Amino acid sequence: MQSTDVVIIGAGPVGLFAIFECGMMKLKTHVIDALAEVGGQCTALYPEKPIYDIPAHPSILAGDLIEKLKEQAAPFHPTYHLNQQVTRLEKVEDHWEVETSAGTKIRTKAIIIAAGVGAFGPNRPPLENIESFENKSVFYFVKNKSMFKDKEVVIAGGGDSAVDWALSLADIAQKVTFVHRRDKFRAAPDSVDKLRALCRPRKD
Ligand SMILES: Cc1cc2nc3c(=O)[nH]c(=O)nc-3n(C[C@H](O)[C@H](O)[C@H](O)COP(=O)(O)OP(=O)(O)OC[C@H]3O[C@@H](n4cnc5c(N)ncnc54)[C@H](O)[C@@H]3O)c2cc1C
Repeated sequence: MQSTDVVIIGAGPVGLFAIFECGMMKLKTHVIDALAEVGGQCTALYPEKPIYDIPAHPSILAGDLIEKLKEQAAPFHPTYHLNQQVTRLEKVEDHWEVETSAGTKIRTKAIIIAAGVGAFGPNRPPLENIESFENKSVFYFVKNKSMFKDKEVVIAGGGDSAVDWALSLADIAQKVTFVHRRDKFRAAPDSVDKLRALCRPRKD
């Protein structure tokens, strides 16, 4: 059984910044994540997408933001337990016991749950046989923007991810076609304005 002041569940941007805040309070941290790398959604889903809503960064790639958060946390020497899911939390007298799917056991004074959307996976459209196209011509996230260089890309959706990716891939793809079921979007209005400025409606 390992021992620490604080266990942080989730190594996304919130979990990583929590290491820094705990460190400033002289609290030692152990950080657990189900994924193989730190960074949560930023690393797993969109490392090469620019983010525009981080104070003091007019634009920063999600992957670079995570590198900066790791760098900011590093002086406090967190212990990372990656590739394992927290499966048990138990209050025992004045402390907690945390157990993971890899059998790691940690005794801790406090727990910070920074689990974001939880263990996430794609929201698949109900199309027959779509699995056989996945990671060949159907993608649910963009890890490497250069894969779409000079390609004809169709983006389906109407939220922030769809609009942000349309704007970002417009620079490198040969053509981006945006498909959404209605003329209203759930994305930031400023991004939607930029999308509309790039758009040429279909003539047919
Ligand atoms: C495509 C896309 C684009 C986005 N663009 C922007 C943007 O431009 N600006 C913006 O502000 N936000 C954006 N977001 C949202 C942003 O990524 C999230 O708000 C942010 O990642 C939340 O951070 P978090 O640390 O709370 O959680 P997450 O990033 O979700 O990380 C939580 C972590 O907890 C881990 N976890 C969960 N349960 C367990 C468990 N039981 N055991 C172990 N580990 C566990 C997960 O594996 C995950 O790594 C975007 C999201 C997506 C999908």
